[in-house]
Amino acid sequence: MIIEVPYYHQTHQEKEVFIHVFRNRMPLLLKGPTGSGKSRFVEYMAHQIEQKLITISCHEETSSTDLIGRFIIKGAETVWVDGPLTTAVREGAILYLDEVAEARPDVIVAIHSMTDHRRELFIDKLGERVKAHENFMLIASFNPGYQRGFKELKPSTRQRFVALSFDYPEPKIETEILINETGVDKEVAKKLVSIGGKIRNLTELGLTETVSTRLLVDAAKLIHSGLPKRLSCHVGIVEPLSDDAQTIESMKDLVDLMI
Ligand code: ADP
Repeated sequence: MIIEVPYYHQTHQEKEVFIHVFRNRMPLLLKGPTGSGKSRFVEYMAHQIEQKLITISCHEETSSTDLIGRFIIKGAETVWVDGPLTTAVREGAILYLDEVAEARPDVIVAIHSMTDHRRELFIDKLGERVKAHENFMLIASFNPGYQRGFKELKPSTRQRFVALSFDYPEPKIETEILINETGVDKEVAKKLVSIGGKIRNLTELGLTETVSTRLLVDAAKLIHSGLPKRLSCHVGIVEPLSDDAQTIESMKDLVDLMI
């Protein structure tokens, strides 16, 4: 359970969409670049609707067994342990699969039956069918920006979800987020947001991922705690984005002109 209200600034009508998706027991897909507020949104909404939240950060090794459960040996006995998907399905929680496209393909197969009218999980190792608890909700996130071919989500999977797009917020909102998250003053927040905007527009830098709100928050935190502004931007924004010396230099020059 999320006890404290997470800070979340709405950017479109995502809160309203979420409420209706939950009410209709539909699965939700959050699309958008890393650091654009997807996880924060889920935490905030879980708090709003007073539901338990189970978050799984998917990676190449995440398999359906990790989600559904496995037999483990305990002393002389073999006992079954539910995985997070099974727990959420039985108890009625929100299961948030962060970066679902990273997971092994059998994860997608495992969640298919949870994304249609059946809302039923088949646990083959137990030969058991579990009907989802009324409050079970499946949310997945994925980053369409990655150009890694097979890590795309298939249309047949995507179309099982209601989908919401996330992007970096407009400057006014992003400035507010920086102030709220870090306590940094408005002038500095505005400058950081301008730096973010400038780098985002420099497509010629060829960055795989550009400046996220998260990176701006990081730089703001460092500044607020007393690290010099330029240095904070170099280590908080520039360095995480690239390993190419020339690209780093260009971004540092730009930062030094702006803050
Ligand atoms: P994602 O899950 O998309 O990778 P996060 O939800 O972890 O991104 O967001 C990264 C950080 O950016 C958050 O910890 C928060 O500080 C900030 N953030 C981004 N968008 C928002 C928003 N709309 N409201 C509040 N904070 C935000």
